[in-house]
Amino acid sequence: MSRAPLTPLEDALAAVLAQAQPLPGAAFVDLLQADGRVLAADCIAPLQVPPLDNSAMDGYAVRSAEVAQAGTALPVSQRIPAGQVGTALQVGTVARIFTGAPLPPGADAIVMQEDCTVLDDGRVRFDAVPQPGQFVRRAGQDIALGSTALQAGLRLTPAALGLAASLGLAQLPVARRPRVALFSTGDELALPGSIAPQDLPPGHIFNSNRYVLASLLQRWGCEVVDGGILPDDRAATHTALARAAEDCDLLVTSAGVSVGEEDHVRPVVEQLGALSLWKIAMKPGKPFAFGHVRRSGGDPAAGRAHFIGLPGNPVSSLITALVLLRPFVLALQGASVVQPPAHWLTADFEITQRDSRREFLRARRNAAGQLELFANQNSGVLTSTVWAEGLVDNPAQTLIARGDSVRFLPFSELLT
Ligand code: AMP
Ligand code: MG
Repeated sequence: MSRAPLTPLEDALAAVLAQAQPLPGAAFVDLLQADGRVLAADCIAPLQVPPLDNSAMDGYAVRSAEVAQAGTALPVSQRIPAGQVGTALQVGTVARIFTGAPLPPGADAIVMQEDCTVLDDGRVRFDAVPQPGQFVRRAGQDIALGSTALQAGLRLTPAALGLAASLGLAQLPVARRPRVALFSTGDELALPGSIAPQDLPPGHIFNSNRYVLASLLQRWGCEVVDGGILPDDRAATHTALARAAEDCDLLVTSAGVSVGEEDHVRPVVEQLGALSLWKIAMKPGKPFAFGHVRRSGGDPAAGRAHFIGLPGNPVSSLITALVLLRPFVLALQGASVVQPPAHWLTADFEITQRDSRREFLRARRNAAGQLELFANQNSGVLTSTVWAEGLVDNPAQTLIARGDSVRFLPFSELLT
């Protein structure tokens, strides 16, 4: 039997992303509900920020030309706390002013109070000479009126919510959360809590993928519909996938997509829609399936749900989710950035054998800031993923010597 050639990960990712049209159904949500959501339309500034020239310091607003020498003393003609607006600054006087208060017309600089001395007669002596414009925050210096303050496709961060709030916006339009049905497959699986660990029958294992994948999908903005455990049975798999496709945007399964006769997911998806099954040239994580399931008995007008089949091995399932499922569900939300940025760090380990597959090694930084590998890189060892801070992304056929710069993907960036 000839073996199918391995598909490069980049090709699989491109094929998957080509199918990820942003879902319809954006809606406005309150700012406090919008963290992590994807902005569905450009946010155009309805005003400038700050609205007026204002003081960056507690001190005195002056005409800088009137304080040409250190030691100049001038009377105080008005007091402008934050929240109030002063009047035009009288010639030959200064204004007491506080941080954030608008500059009075005529003033062109702020002298901070630490550089001033209040004299017994009430005048203020300036111990430093101000530069024109000093400690003045210019109107519009943060955001210009009518400018694009936030771009569609941005995943909203606390900072972005602050910027929207500074424009007076109480709500933002965000992409709909993808509704994702999550299934585990396999007769060997037991749900934690359904049986005491010491009573687990021989041949069974606890279902760990469910918890990994459900948590990841939630972090990536999805609404997860728990599809439970599918038995290794074709009819049951058929019923469950067909039903979930009716009201979900995406069906995700783990395991059961190899080519053994106990792998029922593949033929069922082929029957209900279409499926590409790839052996991806990555390690861990070879089998990966992608396709769709048609709704309502195959009526094309009823639409379809996307389908992604992840491998069963826990580490493979996690890593294929990070590198393929994450970009896909972010693209469904219209995110403009779906790939993590590359970080280059120094290896404090070596890879002395070439591998034909691109490898994702579980690694973390040591005290010197260099990367160490978890000792056991086997795809069944979930411990490695808890120990690690991220993945070294090592291209196919690449040796690594100690001191080499390697591409590192921190989990902290993949888990959001
Ligand atoms: P399969 O693709 O069905 O051959 O599964 C590959 C391996 O992954 C087998 O050792 C399974 O027992 C294991 N596996 C499958 N699903 C899960 C799961 N939900 N949690 C933990 N291990 C799993
Ligand atoms: Mg199985």
